[in-house]
Amino acid sequence: MSDFFSILTSLNTEQIRRQIEECRVCDVERVLLKGFVDDDELPILFSPAAGLMLEEMARRSAALTLRRFGRVIQLYAPLYLSNECTNRCRYCGFAGDLDIPRMTLTPKRAISEGDILHRQGFRHILLVSGESPRHVSMDYLLEVVRGLSGKFASISIELYPMEKEEYQRLAEAGVDGIALYQETYNQVRYLEVHPPGPKRDFRRRLAAIEKGGEAGFRSLGVGALLGLTNWRLDAFILALHSRYLMRRFWQSRIAASFPRIREAAGHYTPDYPISDADFVQMICAMRLILPDAELVMSTRESAALRDNLIGLGITRMSAGSRTNPGGYGASPESGGQFEVEDSRTPAEVARAIASKGFEPVFKDFDRAFIR
Ligand code: SF4
Repeated sequence: MSDFFSILTSLNTEQIRRQIEECRVCDVERVLLKGFVDDDELPILFSPAAGLMLEEMARRSAALTLRRFGRVIQLYAPLYLSNECTNRCRYCGFAGDLDIPRMTLTPKRAISEGDILHRQGFRHILLVSGESPRHVSMDYLLEVVRGLSGKFASISIELYPMEKEEYQRLAEAGVDGIALYQETYNQVRYLEVHPPGPKRDFRRRLAAIEKGGEAGFRSLGVGALLGLTNWRLDAFILALHSRYLMRRFWQSRIAASFPRIREAAGHYTPDYPISDADFVQMICAMRLILPDAELVMSTRESAALRDNLIGLGITRMSAGSRTNPGGYGASPESGGQFEVEDSRTPAEVARAIASKGFEPVFKDFDRAFIR
């Protein structure tokens, strides 16, 4: 089976960009009436014309989310292991050329951070680090995962790209999900924002999520960092990528994320900022295209926007996040990856979800299911 890179390189992106721009409201109406979006129709829902039908898209997205997922929002927390990084991504507060306090948690301290999250109620965690295998080695990860796996129902990773055999070792230790965002699918732009370093290898990064699928992770997370390029084209390719993974790894659940760039050390300003209205259109389009995918929203978004999007399409949210290693403990002496917008406690986020008539869920999976 061909990989997604070969699909991506076969796309005529200029033609798709024109299709998005020239699409008419009647094209959008036709797709919405049909109730299913074929692959060649995906660009339609990301078009300016679809933005004119946002209310109708939102209504259908909310109904579809309710039908497929019920009135629940699954909550998780990131646990940052290290802010050491050999890359210099222009938009990131961990970039190796920035002068920030660096720290890699000892396995013992990582586990005590996990204990804090466990006391807050979390049973799903996401282990995050910069790309520095010297600081975050396989042996280190195995020790951390084994130390946490007894307490958490689900452990996912958002680390550097690895090989299938490495993912298999992590899966055996207790990891069941991976998140690995391509940032942008525009290869020219990708090179502009990723100076020389391991992450500059676009194809290696794109291939890693498929290696995670081959290793048997039950959750595969993809994403685009909004603000790097034209959001309409990147979101279209993100949807196509998600569909590709769904078909190829049908036993896994696909999760799509679309973080917007936030203030961070380095003060990168997005060249292509995306408005709230466009952001909402993108979420609705994603839901209509990917009825069974988890749509994930982090604390990069404001409390007000996150609350307003409950029920519209989002099914998974982080809460109470700290983006610096050791940030949950008493002495957060390390630099963070970005500034969070929603600084509410997990309990406050859970109350906000409940006040909308939804159930905040801290656990919807147990590793015993897949043993
Ligand atoms: S985005 Fe990831 S790889 Fe790039 S500098 Fe930040 S932590 Fe490192």
